Amino acid sequence: MPKTCGSTPPHVLDAALSLPGAPAYLYDLPALDEHVAAVRRALGATELYYAVKANPDAEVLRVLAGHVDGFEVSSAGEHAHVTGLFPGLPVALGGPGKTDAELRLPHHRIHVESPYELRRLLATGLEADVLIRVNPDLPVEGAALTMSGPFGMDEQGVAECLPLFGDRVRLRGRHSHLASGLDATRLLELAGRLLECDHEEVNLGGGMAVSYAEPESRFDWAAYGAGLEGLRRGRRLRVEPGRALTAYCGYYVTRVVDVKRVRGEAYAILLGGTHHLRTPATKGHDQPRTVLPTGKGPGVIEEPVTFVGQLCTPKDVFARKIVTTVRVGDTVVFEMAGAYAWNISHHDFLMHPKPAFHYLRA
Ligand SMILES: *Cc1c(COP(=O)(O)O)cnc(C)c1O
Repeated sequence: MPKTCGSTPPHVLDAALSLPGAPAYLYDLPALDEHVAAVRRALGATELYYAVKANPDAEVLRVLAGHVDGFEVSSAGEHAHVTGLFPGLPVALGGPGKTDAELRLPHHRIHVESPYELRRLLATGLEADVLIRVNPDLPVEGAALTMSGPFGMDEQGVAECLPLFGDRVRLRGRHSHLASGLDATRLLELAGRLLECDHEEVNLGGGMAVSYAEPESRFDWAAYGAGLEGLRRGRRLRVEPGRALTAYCGYYVTRVVDVKRVRGEAYAILLGGTHHLRTPATKGHDQPRTVLPTGKGPGVIEEPVTFVGQLCTPKDVFARKIVTTVRVGDTVVFEMAGAYAWNISHHDFLMHPKPAFHYLRA
């Protein structure tokens, strides 16, 4: 079938066309497997953890578990989910505002966010292996999001923590997750600054760039891995990406129910909406997509079309003024829906049906 626009791989389009219904999520698990294997190879001796908050889908995690050194979790819920699925796989427990119950959870590492949190960890009486989360005052240019504000500690907070460590609650090193959306060159510059410290173990966080505007441009894992090798100096390094691992393996497949013109502007109304795929609304981008001409209904030919969902809010927009041909009944495959997509969406708003979930397997 000829596609109207877009660059979704043909095997994914074939699968999208054979789905029993829409809207649906479709995960390309072999592609994920290949991608994470390549990331793993590129990182060499640097440990790879996956930040579960990007997408906790169990099938996705099963593929990742075959490659990563551990999972980074940021709540009791994520902890229970991951340790239930993969008993024995190391978890790093992070996140601001940990409850006393969370501070008691078993972990390989715990990322402590404040001096008071460290005191509460000591008060549990349990053993703990701690990375202090440091939020140094470093310039971060070109980031999509910077983790300033409430995350981690400044130098004063760190100084307050250091005397509290001992044999039971052990200081293993530091953790910094400073920004998201940085390319390999910028992330390495940042890593260079972060590794000016004398800790034996450093978690450099995630935040590897994912470009929704240019889906073909990918984070340069080979350059990043090689760069970290040069900065290592015998230390134990770890990264914990989320988005850059899973964004590409997920697709949201739906169908056009109406095409109309309002005050000259063309709109394609799709089944579902940003309550299923909130990523474009929250990040303000046009979600990359392929339109498959499965429809025979009314439509528009090669003109700017805004793709919206079924929600009664002007914020329910997938993509704005995309020049395309689109008809009622066409299938739309949104790409890059594998991270911060379904799991960050407001599923119950308007009580439309939930999407189905399908998985391509090797
Ligand atoms: C969200 C988060 C990550 C993952 O960030 P990505 O941008 O998805 O790579 C890693 N570490 C911490 C502490 C986070 O909060």
